[in-house]
Amino acid sequence: MKKFFEEFKEFALKGNVMDMAIGVIIGAAFGNIVSSLTDSFINPLIALICGGNSEDGVKIGGQFVINGVAFDYGSFLSAVINFLIIALVLFCMLKAVNGAVEKAASLKKKEEAAAEPTTKICPKCQSEINIKATKCPCCTADLDA
Ligand SMILES: [Zn+2]
Repeated sequence: MKKFFEEFKEFALKGNVMDMAIGVIIGAAFGNIVSSLTDSFINPLIALICGGNSEDGVKIGGQFVINGVAFDYGSFLSAVINFLIIALVLFCMLKAVNGAVEKAASLKKKEEAAAEPTTKICPKCQSEINIKATKCPCCTADLDA
């Protein structure tokens, strides 16, 4: 049991928990925005498209009513739409983050490649020597400047 708490402490102190908590809070807040969007705009649109003026009169708002039994397809559709919007946004965020990470990595690589070499390899003895050397300090061979 003591080991469990030690492991938990280590986990909590790594900062992952804070990141995770922030993610959960943002996710919840974002979920509210999306569900309010679907409730306010998309659901009425669905109701409008599905026809409030249907001759049969079986559609009322986001519900089918058959023999007095209501099928609340509106809230099901809005849950599906919520999920799709959140999944799409998360996918885009993930792509953006991955892109930024990749860009940073390639930028660093480029910088490393662009950094001027300060050493060269002596063609006679294969030692690594100063790039400006005209005489190898290892084998004393004369080198072209
Ligand atoms: Zn040499």
